Amino acid sequence: MVLQQLGGSISRALQQMSNATIIDEKVLNECLNEITRALLQSDVQFKLVRDMQTNIKKIVNLDDLAAGHNKRRIIQQAVFNELCKILDPGKPSFTLKKGKTSVVMFVGLQGSGKTTTCTKYAFHHQKKGWKPALVCADTFRAGAFDQLKQNATKAKIPFYGSYMESDPMKIAVEGVERFKKENCDLIIVDTSGRHKQETALFEEMRQVSEATKPDLVIFVMDSSIGQAAFDQAQAFKQSVAVGAVIITKMDGHAKGGGALSAVAATKSPIIFIGTGEHMDEFEVFDVKPFVSRLLG
Ligand code: GDP
Repeated sequence: MVLQQLGGSISRALQQMSNATIIDEKVLNECLNEITRALLQSDVQFKLVRDMQTNIKKIVNLDDLAAGHNKRRIIQQAVFNELCKILDPGKPSFTLKKGKTSVVMFVGLQGSGKTTTCTKYAFHHQKKGWKPALVCADTFRAGAFDQLKQNATKAKIPFYGSYMESDPMKIAVEGVERFKKENCDLIIVDTSGRHKQETALFEEMRQVSEATKPDLVIFVMDSSIGQAAFDQAQAFKQSVAVGAVIITKMDGHAKGGGALSAVAATKSPIIFIGTGEHMDEFEVFDVKPFVSRLLG
């Protein structure tokens, strides 16, 4: 994953600073500029990077640090905390309860990995004793239902969809109703995507959301999205009540930083990351271990 390069660059900048005999304003600035460059090169949004730099400078006031304080540790800790802050919206995602019916709606652009992620999410919960079910409300993309059906069958998860019906709302409502009757506790609705952010897509999402009243809306984003990430995530958030984010293709060669902006844009936490095409290539996302790993 190329995000590791970002981690490597930040660690090197911190190490260089540590090698300096005296840590003064100049050394601190050089270190922060290096970190800023690394973040921007990884497509993290400019405003986030600028805020991070300002915050670190505020926390690390070299003049105020009494002699004997370990400046290096304070700076390293500040960098760690600021990276965590970018990834932590400050509130956890809505917690679903096993045994109590929850409807979870997935949204995202076509190709983001939404359908694959729906099954991974269902499979993850099934292994933990939930009773998930999948509803294919994507009537836009030919083959979407077949794909969901194939994945669901492989994972032995019940599914609902139609080759004939073209109204996504009708399918969504029927599917949710059916699985409620069957006492499924996690009903996952896969919605349609488009290649671009289009009015028609957002209108359809709004309608499916109104019709199915999801307990949680999960926004799926491809980690290779780059600088377009912030605007895209914000556009989705403005249309439906996104409550959590899943970043896919973290195994790929994308720079990855853009996807981090999705947290700031949606004010929602990343709850899982996709690390491959297979059903079990899916990891729970926790901010602190992730940043620790990133910084090595
Ligand atoms: P959708 O159009 O958003 O529903 O996207 P799909 O679920 O059809 O996924 C598009 C492509 O991305 C497929 O070839 C998936 O196998 C692939 N994909 C999805 N998630 C991941 C991931 O985490 N890693 C990798 N390498 N590929 C993924």
